[in-house]
Amino acid sequence: QALAQQGKELVVATDTAFVPFEFKQNGKYTGFDIDLWDAVAKKANLNYRFQPMDFNGIIPGLQTRNLDAALAGITIRDDRKQVIDFSDPYYESGLAILVNTDNSDIKAASDLEGKTVAVKIGTATVDFMQRSVPTAKLKLFPNIDNAFLELATGRVDAVVHDTPNVQYYAQTGGKDRVKVTGAVKSGDFYGIAFPKDSELVPVVNQALKDIRADGTYDKIYQKWFGKQP
Ligand code: GLN
Repeated sequence: QALAQQGKELVVATDTAFVPFEFKQNGKYTGFDIDLWDAVAKKANLNYRFQPMDFNGIIPGLQTRNLDAALAGITIRDDRKQVIDFSDPYYESGLAILVNTDNSDIKAASDLEGKTVAVKIGTATVDFMQRSVPTAKLKLFPNIDNAFLELATGRVDAVVHDTPNVQYYAQTGGKDRVKVTGAVKSGDFYGIAFPKDSELVPVVNQALKDIRADGTYDKIYQKWFGKQP
């Protein structure tokens, strides 16, 4: 395809810390989103560099067109579709509760009423909590690692964040210290995000179809989640 952007180095934003989609390992960013974009860009013959940043800055950066695309486990939402474009969905997700292993009374969203809960600024969780658990006291962090620390030191009762993220954290960095006690929302989908009317959208959608058809998507999924999608 003849893209105006062909040849140019695209700036592709990712989150700074969102295991296992994008995170720093031995000084280098790795994860599902990183591998997915590498595969998409290879198919579509796109030249790019990653730009890790706090989640909160990503949608504004797309709106001002300082960013050409973004992968950060970004939930496709109608309100966001007013200001940015999305690719076809590439991962099904939801929201879940993370508590310390010795906590036995928080299991569902209703158990969070009146509790102090750490959440990440600019994410769908903030909106969910304000609507569904209005009496919870929210502590907002730009980076989820700080929310996990707050839980470890007992300054919050729980963290609510994307299910695959808290599950992965509970099995890795937070192993034996934290556990996922309840799903509070399901049926969310992640999409690759673009400035409005970006000509990259159809190109990336075709590449997503191609990597699903040739087994690359499944390979990447199994690498990070160890099972079939
Ligand atoms: N899925 C969440 C959202 O779109 C954010 C995920 C993340 O923290 N990177 O709001």
